[in-house]
Amino acid sequence: SVNESVKNDATTDQASAQNSVEGQSQIQQDASNHILHPFVDNHALKNKGARIMSKADGVYVWDDQGKRYLDAFAGLWCVNLGYGRKELIDAASKQMATLPYYNLFFNTSTPSTVQLAKAIAEIAPDHMNNVFFTGSGSEANDTVFRMVRRYWDVKGQPNKKIFIGRHNGYHGSTVAGTSLGGMKPMHKQGDLPIQGIEHIRQPYWFDEGGDLSPDTFGLIAANALEEKILEVGADNVAAFIAEPIQGAGGVIIPPATYWPEIQRITNKYDILLVVDEVICGFGRTGNWFGCDTLKIKADLMPIAKGLSSGYLPIGGVIISDRVADVLKSEESGDFLHGFTYSGHPTCAAVALENIRILKDEKVIENIQQQTGPYLAEQLQTLADHPLVGEVRTLGMLGAIELVQDKATRTRYPGDGKVGGICRDHALDQGLILRATGDTMLLSPPLVITKEEIDKVIEMTKNALDKTLKDMQ
Ligand code: PLP
Repeated sequence: SVNESVKNDATTDQASAQNSVEGQSQIQQDASNHILHPFVDNHALKNKGARIMSKADGVYVWDDQGKRYLDAFAGLWCVNLGYGRKELIDAASKQMATLPYYNLFFNTSTPSTVQLAKAIAEIAPDHMNNVFFTGSGSEANDTVFRMVRRYWDVKGQPNKKIFIGRHNGYHGSTVAGTSLGGMKPMHKQGDLPIQGIEHIRQPYWFDEGGDLSPDTFGLIAANALEEKILEVGADNVAAFIAEPIQGAGGVIIPPATYWPEIQRITNKYDILLVVDEVICGFGRTGNWFGCDTLKIKADLMPIAKGLSSGYLPIGGVIISDRVADVLKSEESGDFLHGFTYSGHPTCAAVALENIRILKDEKVIENIQQQTGPYLAEQLQTLADHPLVGEVRTLGMLGAIELVQDKATRTRYPGDGKVGGICRDHALDQGLILRATGDTMLLSPPLVITKEEIDKVIEMTKNALDKTLKDMQ
């Protein structure tokens, strides 16, 4: 029809007006014309063109040009069982055929969701037996924000409202998630943090420890919490929130003195301890939870990502009996909070199967005994490289600090430019790493083999060599 042809012409005009970058495929142009990509300079993307990832298997992903990449970042810290696991696909399709969706509102539950909650309670620390389900890690942290304040209200201590988080912490991208996190560039967009959230220093010895020993610095960083509590008044503080190991901030593994001191302080002042397990949960540190590895007793643990190996979106908050007993008490009444997709039965079925595989295939034991130590040993061989200031690993997490001067831990000028160069050299060779400033991050699928780790190391070394040449 005439109308249709007018519309088609208009669409073509519009498309060519928006983007006609030479050498870009139609899908790349469509991507930058029709998607506002998250955490991306969308203007720059128009000229660069997005990498279009179109299939995956095991630890590998392929772009639409047929180029293969070893994904040493497990998607976004999440594809813990690797790509293409038929059991997860079958679990989803079976559940979809039976009951694709129902909700947990109005006194209802669904079998796969109940089974998942029970399975999580079994692997969680003994004092944690309840889950509040969400669709993502950010929603989990928004849930924490409301749940903690509700807890103190019901307990008759409504003044306890203030949250303390950390600079350079990451707890997601929603309003509460961004505010609890300590990413300054994120705070600048949208007048965040919201009221009632304070931040203390991070336990980042490499960048901030100066001449102190890591253990001394760890105590100083932890004591910042006590100082902040005394500054705002313990009666006003609701909770402290932190990642066991900061992920997005740079795989920052705190000194051994840090967490015991934090635990002492939160106990002393009767403050809830929220340990964000969105990255560390479900095996990444070589135990079910980061809390197990670092011996932390949390009151709440937000989870997501590895819960379903990223195959479907699901998150939640694992709740200690201390908090659950209050929120389930007669006085508490309705908790007016929840999402359409809280406890989505299809996502739950996939998560349940994911946990079964982690158990049956002894994936976590394998990290603890085999691949974790191997990754640590192999990555450590890069510590001698002239560009490398420090190598850190724990379980299937790794970081490589890039520096101009090894002895003084001095960075190159340019605000994280070197990390970007190194990441691009890795990509050229077919290796996906992430760069946070001048820190290279690794978070491979938990099922990565020793042979695949060898390939990661080889390509990383090449990327470091090429980066060093660029800097000379
Ligand atoms: N918490 C931590 C520690 C994270 O690393 C992330 C995401 O990277 C989130 C929360 C937010 O999770 P989501 O992106 O699923 O909202």
